[in-house]
Amino acid sequence: MEITRIRAFQVNLPLYEGSYNWSGGQSVSVFDSTVIEVQTDEGIVGYGEACPLGPAYLPAYAAGIRTGILELAPRLIGEDPRQLVALNRRMDAVLKGHPYVKSGIDMACWDILGKVTGVPVCLLLGGRFGDEVVLYRAISQEAPDVMARRVSEYRAEGYRRFQLKVGGDPDIDIERIKAVAAVLKPGDRLVADANTGWLPHDALRVVRALRDLDVYIEQPCARYEDCRTIRQHTDHPFILDEVIDSVEVLLRASADRAMDVVNIKISKLGGLTKARQVRDLCVTLGLGMTLEDSWGGDIVTAAIAHLAHSTPEEYRFTSTDFNSYVTVSIADGAPKRVAGTMSASTAPGLGVLPRWDVLGQAVVDVSGG
Ligand code: MG
Repeated sequence: MEITRIRAFQVNLPLYEGSYNWSGGQSVSVFDSTVIEVQTDEGIVGYGEACPLGPAYLPAYAAGIRTGILELAPRLIGEDPRQLVALNRRMDAVLKGHPYVKSGIDMACWDILGKVTGVPVCLLLGGRFGDEVVLYRAISQEAPDVMARRVSEYRAEGYRRFQLKVGGDPDIDIERIKAVAAVLKPGDRLVADANTGWLPHDALRVVRALRDLDVYIEQPCARYEDCRTIRQHTDHPFILDEVIDSVEVLLRASADRAMDVVNIKISKLGGLTKARQVRDLCVTLGLGMTLEDSWGGDIVTAAIAHLAHSTPEEYRFTSTDFNSYVTVSIADGAPKRVAGTMSASTAPGLGVLPRWDVLGQAVVDVSGG
């Protein structure tokens, strides 16, 4: 089987809440996502998606995906999409770095492998653990009372895990976290995600002020060493996200006991193949995981569901259903949230079918010859 054509489609994903705000005053109101289609000589077609959280979160930007695919795709024509490790080695050989460019292509090739073998991607990734995947809701950075109200509203929709976007003024962040903690009920879990937004002295003040609260601290500072210092000064469960972007740093952080939970984002690592490798290492190393992506619509959400559902339950901390944050549906068959959970499709591949009326014309179209 050979790849014969790769196309990319641009789609805008507006938010139900109007905007999504996080550390450093960053905000997105319409996500710019890219859907990738990989065609083969046997008529089987796979779909993937990649969507950065704006241009200033990770070293990734939406138009860069399309430009990167223009560079990469001609060198993938003729490759076998079923040989995922070989395909990833090829992508890394012809384009150094840029994992977010490769993510949607890798995802589409997993979709193809599932369709060829007649099984859902979660089975190919290791199995199907449990009946459903537990979701968290990200709470955009707002005034403390607004964030507490949002948590109560999303709690009424079935969510029991909440990730607060903090990383702003540390004194207001302390108020935000306390205001939300006050409306939680037994069994809920609370994460304060600073998204690299605090300097070490700010982070030290925050964790000290929260000493008696049951809250996870996520990625307080930009530098790994600074996060590790905060970790050494708090007994809150600790999550690392932005700095865990390779196997090498995961192994170092594990040896340093620098976190209890790792945030695995598919496009941060370069696709499902590499996310699976990090996921499997986290199981071996005894680390919990948030399994997700930087952002996305129905296809990213489907891929997250397969990655999460194929992860042993006790290692799954949370995942998220980005398709319920946005007002546009780009594919049929994607997971739908039920009482704060979702499930991977049982159809072959990712189980999604793009909605062509939404995707429109391809903005990248590369074929052989
Ligand atoms: Mg995070």
